Amino acid sequence: MKLLVVEDEKQIRDLLFHSLTSAGHEVLSAGSTEEAMTLLQRSRVEGYVLDVTLPGLSGIELCRWLRNQGVKDPILMLTASSGLTDKLKGLDSGADDYLTKPFELAELKARLNAFERKARGYPRPIVRLSDLVIDPNEMTVCRGGVAIELSRKEFLLLDYLARNQDRVVTRAMIGAAVWDSNTSLYTNVIDVFIANLRKKIDEGRDVRLIHTVRGKGFLLAEVGLEVKK
Ligand code: CA
Repeated sequence: MKLLVVEDEKQIRDLLFHSLTSAGHEVLSAGSTEEAMTLLQRSRVEGYVLDVTLPGLSGIELCRWLRNQGVKDPILMLTASSGLTDKLKGLDSGADDYLTKPFELAELKARLNAFERKARGYPRPIVRLSDLVIDPNEMTVCRGGVAIELSRKEFLLLDYLARNQDRVVTRAMIGAAVWDSNTSLYTNVIDVFIANLRKKIDEGRDVRLIHTVRGKGFLLAEVGLEVKK
């Protein structure tokens, strides 16, 4: 998910940036509320991690401002003390959750994953197709009982194909749903991701599940099924 991290302590900000980036999130970072507001004028994000104690306008004020702007995306506050007042103020300003410093990065990642699940309307049913099992809640994939490692984007692509099981999806549909883009810039990228996904899901299997429909797009289906146009 695309995140904005606002934290004035550079060391912590850099740590959050690297850790969340390596967890598969796209991360923008700012050192102050004012900087964050400027960033938000040209970028859209899907979730926020805000330190409470910032120079100038506090994280709580930023949170309140975001909600006043009509932002409904999840907001996690980082509170410096375990003081109840900070937490209450944070939640009162419209934050969804808070973490008290110092916190474990694993805990932060778990909270953000929960945000992501909520944003995507989880829990969702497990998808079974032939011997392929996709769990959208845990973001895991198995084929023939063996776990398959996918990158986050690969998973989102497979998940999109699975949600449209037995239907042809075009590159434009995939671009809009998985890359949040309406441009054709992603066409080649999509082809590369499909090739990688195919290698991981279908290579060396008797039943192929990812199909290319020439001139149209792609399809996740068991061969022999009637294809809905
Ligand atoms: Ca701070």
